[in-house]
Amino acid sequence: MATNSTQTKPAPKKGIRVGSRAIAVAVAFLVAFIITAYLILAPQLSFKQMVLVLGFTFSACFLLVYFSYEALVFREINNIYAGLEKFKRKEFKQMSSKFLFRPDPLKRIKDEIYLIAERNQKEIDELKRLQVMRREFLADVSHELKTPIFAAQGFIHTLLDGAMDDERVRDKFLMKAAKSLDGLDTLVQDLITISQLEKGVIQMKKAPFDLNELGQEVFEQLEGKAASKHITLHLLTPPHEVFDVLADRGRIKQVLINLIDNAIKYGLENGNIWLSFQDGKKKTLITVRDDGPGIPKEHLNRIFERFYRIDKSRTRDTSGGGSGLGLAISKHIVEAHQSVIAVSSEVGQGTTLRFKLPTLKE
Ligand code: ADP
Repeated sequence: MATNSTQTKPAPKKGIRVGSRAIAVAVAFLVAFIITAYLILAPQLSFKQMVLVLGFTFSACFLLVYFSYEALVFREINNIYAGLEKFKRKEFKQMSSKFLFRPDPLKRIKDEIYLIAERNQKEIDELKRLQVMRREFLADVSHELKTPIFAAQGFIHTLLDGAMDDERVRDKFLMKAAKSLDGLDTLVQDLITISQLEKGVIQMKKAPFDLNELGQEVFEQLEGKAASKHITLHLLTPPHEVFDVLADRGRIKQVLINLIDNAIKYGLENGNIWLSFQDGKKKTLITVRDDGPGIPKEHLNRIFERFYRIDKSRTRDTSGGGSGLGLAISKHIVEAHQSVIAVSSEVGQGTTLRFKLPTLKE
């Protein structure tokens, strides 16, 4: 998040440094000096001279006390006001921290105001950022919900307007309406999952399990879908080799399904998908690779964003595309395992997604 200032400590103080104690000593010394001089000279002084001495003592004391107040209090309060003006204009960096004297309480007040203002500004910036995100999220959600609702609505109204009489058309339209509603169901489920993951409501239930066994299970589940595009699924590890990790099995299964399902969805006919595990010292690397069309560089950083699709024209109900939340959910799940998910891709060559999980091996 961009904030307006990163300065937290005032710049080193410049200028004359005279403490309040030094001023008090100067005032006391001057008054003592004048009174002593007056006592020495008193018997020889005329009335006129006494009035002069009185006037001189008064002026000197007045000037000193006035100057002290002016310098110690009013000038520094003005300095604080000038600082507040700069806060209003968010010019944190230009805040002067010069003090003519060193009035510690005033300096503390100024530092405190500085800190409070900076903290408040950061909070305001963060709230504004969240408000923009919330607004964008709402706009995205309504847009995504609209597509399957309008599609199902269209099919049902066409049926009610007479298409029901033709048995073939009726079945076809009912199937299409059902498919749109299934898409809507997936979207709503994904929305619930992502909002719970973002709120931190979903806790990862970490337990030891074998990744190799999970990989085979996921392949069995997606075999039919891959076969419909003549895509071959390859598990690059011997079937009996064990890759024990400590993670939430159900959630990791969801991640593998998302990644392999994407590789099938966006992959080419007669393509290949490879799933592999590689044991490291403390972590096991999981890799899903395909030889599909690849992802152009400018999209690589954005595919984990909610609702981000490279081909905006692909919608759930017409092309079998997903909710646009699959990778965002996968990223959240991997991060909840204190890991990161990375993508590398080359147009025309294919895409590779990787993440690590803590292994049980010491
Ligand atoms: P969707 O629900 O649209 O699949 P995802 O969050 O799973 O959403 O993916 C975001 C986008 O990333 C997809 O719309 C697709 O454009 C791109 N993408 C993801 N995986 C692949 C892949 N293996 N090959 C090519 N493009 C991919």
